[in-house]
Amino acid sequence: MMDKKERAREKREMRRQEISLLRTIPYSDHQRWWSSDTVAVVTGANRGIGFEIAHQLAMHGLTVILTSRETGVGEEAAKVLQEGGLNVVFHQLDIVNPSSIETFTEWIQQNYGGLDILVNNAGININIGSENSVEHAEKVIETNYFGTKSMIKAMIPLLRPSASGARIVSVTSRLGRLNGRRNRIGNITLRAQLEDVDSLSEELIDGTMNKFLEQVKDGTWESGGWPQVYTDYSLSKLAVNAYTRLMARILSDRPEGHKIYINCYCPGWVKTAMTGWAGHIPPEDGADTAVWLALLPELSVNGKFFAERREINF
Ligand code: NDP
Repeated sequence: MMDKKERAREKREMRRQEISLLRTIPYSDHQRWWSSDTVAVVTGANRGIGFEIAHQLAMHGLTVILTSRETGVGEEAAKVLQEGGLNVVFHQLDIVNPSSIETFTEWIQQNYGGLDILVNNAGININIGSENSVEHAEKVIETNYFGTKSMIKAMIPLLRPSASGARIVSVTSRLGRLNGRRNRIGNITLRAQLEDVDSLSEELIDGTMNKFLEQVKDGTWESGGWPQVYTDYSLSKLAVNAYTRLMARILSDRPEGHKIYINCYCPGWVKTAMTGWAGHIPPEDGADTAVWLALLPELSVNGKFFAERREINF
């Protein structure tokens, strides 16, 4: 008989094949709300999932701004796609560096008058395998949460008005789920506050991150009831998930023609540097839900969490 693990693996593999098939179905003309003038920005796109997101968006005919914190590798990555005839432009962008964000903001404003799609993909996880060191917790949360938040804040004023709505997609993780069976915040009151979209606030999310970081500094974090697996990383992704719901609420009353839809997704366990190449999903499949969300025709989903093109619980 198949055990639980095998069944899960089989189910995953079947869904992966379904998605590969779905990806081959072209968008019809009436579904294609975008054109070659539609501008998509992807962060951390020099490799891994980000590179694939940039690749696939460009394959759909958009103008893609491939960004990377390192100019050399970013230019190389963009060149690979340009040589394939794709409309890809490189620009430097380090999401934790305010002056880099400012320079990028000015550049995109001047050259394109803004953007239509922002994909927040840049992220780090220092631990691999069963490690759970918090030595780099500050950097992890700074990048994955505060950096992503800075980008969302900087880009919102530049999102161009359109009938189809501008889109923000963030790559997060199931590890950041509020009610994950094996990996969640122990404090029920805090969890309930973070779960209730009406009580969510930037102060609550930032405060939760800062409390964890304080406990890391004074050595008490292990008894703090934080997620048990990749604690710093899981919390950083939990924060982006919560911020996605908060922003969806805040942005929801924008008038027709000025809509902004913001969602997040988990790519699964992907074979990239981040997992030490141990993931079981190729980056092409890991990129899929981001591209699908970014291009959804008649998008009305907002503030939701997805995996494999399906909504999942936060
Ligand atoms: P990689 O490590 O291959 O890619 C991460 C990318 O983020 C790199 O391009 C990296 O740049 C970039 N980056 C890191 N810090 C910054 C920064 N400050 N500014 C700009 N770019 C930065 O990993 P993945 O492709 O796997 O990860 C992509 C996203 O997917 C991440 O957000 C990750 O958390 C998420 N994710 C990945 C999973 C997986 O199984 N792989 C599972 C769930 C989520 P550089 O090359 O310079 O380091």
